[in-house]
Amino acid sequence: MRNFSLRDLYLSQLRDLYSAETQLLAALPNMAVNARDAQLKQGFEDHLAQTREHVQRLEQIFAALNEPTAGKVSKAMQGLVQQGAEEAGENKAGPVRDAALIASAQRVEHYEIAAYGTAVSLARLLGEDQAAALLDATLQEEGQTDEKLTQVAGKVNQAALQETAQN
Ligand code: FE
Repeated sequence: MRNFSLRDLYLSQLRDLYSAETQLLAALPNMAVNARDAQLKQGFEDHLAQTREHVQRLEQIFAALNEPTAGKVSKAMQGLVQQGAEEAGENKAGPVRDAALIASAQRVEHYEIAAYGTAVSLARLLGEDQAAALLDATLQEEGQTDEKLTQVAGKVNQAALQETAQN
């Protein structure tokens, strides 16, 4: 068994995030298509643009470390994305499906918030100040996205409740 250094762990965490973000690049367009609420749809489109920046920041960090981005698949993100797609597919377009999309998107955001929080801490410990600043910028954006989702959920969940009551 290899003895992993903290730097190895840091790189592994970054590769998990790189895999997670690139999976989201593929998943977010579908989430936007599946959303019926205009604000939610726009939110997914905005977050897609942000996610491209998140990927670029990670690429910048790997380039500075002279390390490849590839080498890891985030199985956790695969599970979150797959489960979200299944749930959305089980519902016809409307507020209940929108509520399912928000539930899934918030799971994703909380995963990213946890992972970026760890990555920022490790970067600081390792004296990687520039990387820490980049990772922290993404962490802040993930937090803002989560807050926006909570806000949209207030409206969408209410609509889902009303629709369900009519059935
Ligand atoms: Fe992200």
